[in-house]
Amino acid sequence: MMGLHPATRPTNNSMSDTRFRLITLDLDDTLWPLGPVIEAADTALHGWLSRHAPRLAATHDLASLRQHRRTLMQTMPEIAHDLGQIRRRSLASLLESFNYAVSLAEDGVAYFQMHRNRVAPFADVAPVLHALSRRYCLISLTNGTADPEATALRGLFHRNLTPVDAGAAKPDPALFRHALAHAGCTPREALHLGDDPWMDVEAARAAGLTAIWVNRYGRDWPRELAPPHHTVTDLNQVLDWLDGRGQVAIEEPGHAV
Ligand SMILES: [Mg+2]
Repeated sequence: MMGLHPATRPTNNSMSDTRFRLITLDLDDTLWPLGPVIEAADTALHGWLSRHAPRLAATHDLASLRQHRRTLMQTMPEIAHDLGQIRRRSLASLLESFNYAVSLAEDGVAYFQMHRNRVAPFADVAPVLHALSRRYCLISLTNGTADPEATALRGLFHRNLTPVDAGAAKPDPALFRHALAHAGCTPREALHLGDDPWMDVEAARAAGLTAIWVNRYGRDWPRELAPPHHTVTDLNQVLDWLDGRGQVAIEEPGHAV
């Protein structure tokens, strides 16, 4: 266990506010675009399969491999939150049905994961996270399998939590509660940043956190949800918001100090 992160202690620095001590961050489509990296990693795995399990690769394309995983998630809802395990079991089952060594699944998933971690963070991400990490405890919360420590963002997060750690994926509050426990914070002391209106914004505020919607792609906010506290299109706007604007604009009934 690491000790208390220095940034979790409020400071008198005028740049710092003492309302928040923890910032939790979604990864995919918040810190980097997800689509291209998944497509590249799936394509890389398919190439790997064509070398190591050619009969399987000749029968299954990316879409049918995806469909196989989707079906497995439906038949095994108890592990549906663990995308790494879903991928491993799906591949093992396919390898077995084509009379290849099931043990190949481990290598195949490792190969996929290596490519899955080759993310390209948006230009604002690294500079802003460096600044935030000096002032706040940063914890990543993803439903996916990317590992920030295997990316250019290594070393910036106090913890990187996935549904495997919490036993459930967002929007379940378990991941948020895990992060709060790691940082020793109350929900009121935590700010969540994420791109998904339901799994990030709505889920975070249901867990008592303040949530900022990171809308990278100019999407419309879903009509059925209450509006977010604040919306940004990049993380520099989060820095601006924390440095003054917004702190007084989010008082809500029941949230008074
Ligand atoms: Mg996301």
